[in-house]
Amino acid sequence: MSTPSKLYEGKAKIVYATENLQEYLTYFKDDATAFNALKKGTIMGKGEINCTISSALLNYLGSKGIKTHFLAQKSEREMLVKAVQIIPLEVVVRNIAAGSLCKQTTLLEGQKLPFPLVEFYLKNDDLGDPLLTVDRLNIMNIATVEQINQLKDNALKINQYLIEFFGSCDITLVDFKLEFGLDFEGNLLLADEISPDTCRLWDNLEQDIEKRVLDKDRFRRDLGKVESAYQQVQKRVLTQIEKLKNT
Ligand code: C5P
Repeated sequence: MSTPSKLYEGKAKIVYATENLQEYLTYFKDDATAFNALKKGTIMGKGEINCTISSALLNYLGSKGIKTHFLAQKSEREMLVKAVQIIPLEVVVRNIAAGSLCKQTTLLEGQKLPFPLVEFYLKNDDLGDPLLTVDRLNIMNIATVEQINQLKDNALKINQYLIEFFGSCDITLVDFKLEFGLDFEGNLLLADEISPDTCRLWDNLEQDIEKRVLDKDRFRRDLGKVESAYQQVQKRVLTQIEKLKNT
């Protein structure tokens, strides 16, 4: 077999072409960045954990009728996905105020939001991934009005499934980021990953506001024990998936 050709290398993943034009192979790295790559580091074993958690969650969402790019987990760090053209948007869903929402508003960390907040950020490192308005989105022609509505509907559905799933793992889903892409037929698919890199996850079994953090905020905020938090999420997710298989 010929050496796979690299199509794209991001901060946490590499995307390779495969012999099938309609499939890509995604490789998950241990590299971690935060604050638009101003902070860089390594989280040992992160690639394997994020690949495994993402595979499990994308497969789970698929079983609920959400159309995703996931095809198979090929190895500990490799995921086979449907080839999509990524829409350059970060779709963020928030259930509880945290992170940039608290920096940019008067909302306090931990405040439950009256409804899930769906936000669109431009995926553009040079501009620092700015928050968009619907009109800005329309004017930039990044997505049609119909696609924007579809993105929001999908994000809200995914949020409900993930809140329920993480709840059964004794984890609160605070917020998360999704990316979507269009396949060869123009179908909108959930793409990228769902992992402690892209979600804020709080341990319901822990009251301490620092100890409860099970996600990349441990790296961003130098809270320590990053690896064990990621391992804990993986363990609970896989245990829950096993339980669901047996019911
Ligand atoms: O930083 P902020 O509060 O806007 O992040 C909201 C959510 O989106 C967090 O769960 C964060 O991990 C995720 N996110 C991401 N990639 C980015 C920006 C945010 O996964 N580039």
